Amino acid sequence: MAKKVKYGSVKRLGARYGRTLRFKLGKIESEQSKRHKCPYCTYVQVRRVSAGIWQCNKCDAKFTNKAYTVGKLASVTSSSMNREAEQESVKPAQEASESE
Ligand SMILES: [Zn+2]
Repeated sequence: MAKKVKYGSVKRLGARYGRTLRFKLGKIESEQSKRHKCPYCTYVQVRRVSAGIWQCNKCDAKFTNKAYTVGKLASVTSSSMNREAEQESVKPAQEASESE
């Protein structure tokens, strides 16, 4: 039996732009629209606000990260997150892993 291809969000493009490019775009789009794990409360409730900006529906934390997905927690130590200071358990290990 033939393998069934899953199109997802790129079905809207029809037959245009090439299979490989559509496939790559589909992977990114599904990644950016799904819920991600919150670096502060660890609930899977983080949604994308806009490119690189993410917000948690559970603890309301708003933070920057990768444009299309939530990667390493580079932004946890940023000054904008001072109101999260009571949650020290997440904070300490981050400064060492920052490599930018
Ligand atoms: Zn949260």
